Amino acid sequence: MSTIFTKIINGDIPSYLIAEDADYYAFLDINPLAKGHTLVIPKKETDYILNMEDLELAGLIIFAKKVGIAIEKIVPCKRIGLTVIGLEVPHTHIHLIPINSIFDMDFKQPKLSFSHDEFATLANKITLAYKSL
Ligand code: AMP
Repeated sequence: MSTIFTKIINGDIPSYLIAEDADYYAFLDINPLAKGHTLVIPKKETDYILNMEDLELAGLIIFAKKVGIAIEKIVPCKRIGLTVIGLEVPHTHIHLIPINSIFDMDFKQPKLSFSHDEFATLANKITLAYKSL
């Protein structure tokens, strides 16, 4: 059975797309820790990042780098924090989170909520920044 993220890639479930290429896909996390919290995933389903082929993993990191730089251009922050958890969705994903302190990476914090329009506007801005890189 497909993961929820494969359904997102295939357009069966909506997402706030940031960027995609033939192998990778980036979209806003629907329960963000911070404005601009983005997930970067390989289109090929792999449950666990440490089971990825080296070149596929390298490609994922390089794709995530460009997405992170685009987020930085739109969301004021000190850094983009990168982390992998993967306990909820069995499809490898890297969290890209705008942070100003280490506490901003604490997944026990309450998640933020945004309206559809706020998510869509933010995604559009980050997408434009990504395309301009
Ligand atoms: P984890 O597997 O623990 O790294 O967490 C999975 C992440 O996926 C969480 O931050 C969720 O908010 C996020 N998530 C789950 N479903 C969706 C969805 N349909 N659209 C965007 N993000 C999602």
